[in-house]
Amino acid sequence: MDHFTYIDGQLHAESVPLSRIAEAAGTPTYVYSTATLVHHYRTFADAFAGQNATICYAVKANSNQAVIATLARQGAGADVLSEGELRRALKAGVPAAKIVFSGIGKSRREIALALEAGVGQINVESEPELELISALASARGAMAPIAIRVNPDVDAKTHEKITTGRKENKFGIALARAPEIYARAAALPGIEAVGVAIHIGSQLTELGPFGDAFTLAAGLVETLRGAGHPIRRLDLGGGLGIPYRDETPPSPADYAALVRETTGHLGVELVLEPGRLIAGNAGILLTRVLYVKQGTAKSFVVVDAGMNDLMRPALYDAWHRIVPVVEPAMGAPTAAVDVVGPVCETTDIFGHDRILPMLECDDLLAIRSAGAYGAVMASTYNTRPLVAEVLVKDDALAVIRARQDMAELLAMDRIPAWLGDESQ
Ligand SMILES: *Cc1c(COP(=O)(O)O)cnc(C)c1O
Repeated sequence: MDHFTYIDGQLHAESVPLSRIAEAAGTPTYVYSTATLVHHYRTFADAFAGQNATICYAVKANSNQAVIATLARQGAGADVLSEGELRRALKAGVPAAKIVFSGIGKSRREIALALEAGVGQINVESEPELELISALASARGAMAPIAIRVNPDVDAKTHEKITTGRKENKFGIALARAPEIYARAAALPGIEAVGVAIHIGSQLTELGPFGDAFTLAAGLVETLRGAGHPIRRLDLGGGLGIPYRDETPPSPADYAALVRETTGHLGVELVLEPGRLIAGNAGILLTRVLYVKQGTAKSFVVVDAGMNDLMRPALYDAWHRIVPVVEPAMGAPTAAVDVVGPVCETTDIFGHDRILPMLECDDLLAIRSAGAYGAVMASTYNTRPLVAEVLVKDDALAVIRARQDMAELLAMDRIPAWLGDESQ
């Protein structure tokens, strides 16, 4: 469910017409709905009521501090993957104790910062990382609360590029080796192994792979406890899918019931890390038609957003619904068009053969389901400044990230002395 609907023939974000946002902030612009973010968070959190669960929103899905703060006000913790994400979560008001630091390549500096901030859990992805955390924590006289991320070798049955829990993926430590690693952790100074962590992939649309992975993780908790390790936490990662097109992912209630079924007997504290589920359908990318071009074989609608602004279609063949901001009249003529961006790459296509009303230059379109893995993945390819982000709440709108200034973007390059100052 989301709050992007037509009211009097105009697509709105909550009570704000998107045309007003285009005027206020220009295009392309990401637009997020507070009510949708909160609804998704609440639906998920309420499904886990009574299960001693902390919901740590996976900040990488959408790391705007206004988005994180909106969720933090609802009680969310954060799952972060870098110094930058950690700093964003802290600035947005997430208590350090509710922050999980994940990621397979944490630098020494990032681990030190996590220890200094006092994050609630550091997820360890390799033995050398475990040794480094031990060294840094004991040098500070601190105990690092860690979980080992195990790789359960389960096929998430999602897009190949977003599956993470198979043995050939780079993530985690093989399940079979876990007992040995926990024994090592117990012997190391500065390490308190509080939990077990898994995360098998993203955009899962079936419960089966989750069930397999949760069962394996629960079995490991019992094995470890049997070996004398006081494991009290189980971090089940994120990955629950959302409808982009005609997918029918499991409901948060069914997912929570599965978690209870597979882990309820353990009496562990649960950590859950949904990202896409919270933010995906809470955002759109608002874009303007630049040209309508009749090719010999196809018609193209060239819009002002490009693959650098929303990378998912080019990166994962992702499908995003594209809708006109002005609601087409019943029975109005339509055409099949390719909606393409201005970037000089053949993969800069948002949709093939989309049935849309007859569009003209300056018409506005909304690319739906762009709230997760949209703005966060943007680049300045083709020297296109990062786009603006707007958050709506009821009838109010706020620019939560200004469009990047072209002069600032250009000023980041420096001409070395040997080239002289011909460019001045
Ligand atoms: C990406 C990621 C998530 C969030 O995944 P979603 O599919 O967006 O829910 C959670 N945990 C970890 C460790 C991740 O890498």
